[in-house]
Amino acid sequence: MYFDPTDDQLALRDAVRAFARTELAPGYLPRAKSEKFPWELHRQVASMGTFGLLAGSEHNPLPQEDYVAAGLVVEELAYADFNIANAAIPVMLMSSLIAAHGNEHTRRTWLDPLVAGDAYVALGLTEPDTGSDVASIRTTAVADGDGYVISGEKTSVTMLAHSQAILLVASTVRDGARVGASTFVVPLDSPGISTSLIADTGWRPMGRGVLHLDGVRVPAEALLGAEGEAFRSVLGGFDFTRPLLALTGIGCAQASVDETAEYLKHRQVFGSPLARFEGASFPLAEHATHLEAARLLCYSTLWRRSTGRPHTALAAMTKWYGPKQASQAVHDCLLLHGNYGYSCELPFEQRMRDVLAVEIADGTAQIQKIVIARELYGREFVPYDRRPR
Ligand SMILES: Cc1cc2nc3c(=O)[nH]c(=O)nc-3n(C[C@H](O)[C@H](O)[C@H](O)COP(=O)(O)OP(=O)(O)OC[C@H]3O[C@@H](n4cnc5c(N)ncnc54)[C@H](O)[C@@H]3O)c2cc1C
Repeated sequence: MYFDPTDDQLALRDAVRAFARTELAPGYLPRAKSEKFPWELHRQVASMGTFGLLAGSEHNPLPQEDYVAAGLVVEELAYADFNIANAAIPVMLMSSLIAAHGNEHTRRTWLDPLVAGDAYVALGLTEPDTGSDVASIRTTAVADGDGYVISGEKTSVTMLAHSQAILLVASTVRDGARVGASTFVVPLDSPGISTSLIADTGWRPMGRGVLHLDGVRVPAEALLGAEGEAFRSVLGGFDFTRPLLALTGIGCAQASVDETAEYLKHRQVFGSPLARFEGASFPLAEHATHLEAARLLCYSTLWRRSTGRPHTALAAMTKWYGPKQASQAVHDCLLLHGNYGYSCELPFEQRMRDVLAVEIADGTAQIQKIVIARELYGREFVPYDRRPR
């Protein structure tokens, strides 16, 4: 493994860091309390080439697909503004899936605007009755003439109110027989679609929503990849979105640790700066250690993906370990600021709301541990499905 970022990676990281710390950090708090998606800032992030990193050679500012660079971008953004960072991840996922599996029509319609930050394609996997158990989805896509008719319900869809399309997974039926789960890119203005919104405690500029599909007719071109290939392509993408999500938590927690270190140097208690009391400085030292360990796990996973090495179990490790460490770090940083930490004028309560959701989205800790255990013991010892046969 190489620990030195390449010159390209460093240049991108430094450009994103400079932008994020001057343009994003000052407005994080008011933006995080609002339900307005900051399109202009999203476009500015796009203008640095960030959304092209995984979107194929035509859009990539770097010589090759670079998952480590994607991680550096996301972590730097999250240090300044958790929500802007988080909104970048589905863009990276969608652009990589569409670049890899999209037909000419889908690529032409969605890839350019996605990479430019002008459009958004949400992800529709979770349903009201099934989240962790994704294989049990009930939404159907019935092959009909030269297209499909999709019916069902998707819930917990991030960015639904701000998206122009959704990439959704549906159980596909052809000639009366189920042919497995397939992926479709469906414009949200299609007849038969209605939506409602979910009131959340964090992630507010992105928001989540529920999508109802009542006999939505799509052309054959809406299919992404081959029929029955959804889990291989979409869930394969989770192997990089998991470390990226973890890095949003880590970036946000690192900002909290850095701010708290400054605070402990200046806050006087019992005649000394708080930093002189080990009861205050040791917890911060421990969080700095855990965050660094989590960060290295993420970059190791992303590096393995970039170099074509196995990384599924590592990706699952990043996703339970990173968000947990991040949540605990932000929590302790709030406490170390005493009464001021609890105020809405400081960012800690907002960061706690935002980081907490990273422990759930893209699969909870329990699901990640099942993935890791399957790699350790073999699939036959750790089945997802315990229903009697
Ligand atoms: C902020 C946010 C954004 C999201 N964005 C999206 C999105 O854009 N698109 C999308 O499709 N989904 C999205 N999700 C949904 C997310 O992927 C699911 O919430 C997650 O996979 C868990 O599914 P669930 O909520 O149905 O919980 P459930 O599956 O009902 O699980 C409930 C609890 O049981 C535990 N559990 C489940 N199975 C097991 C088991 N076998 N062993 C032990 N414990 C178990 C879980 O860990 C969890 O604690 C988002 C969620 C959040 C919070």
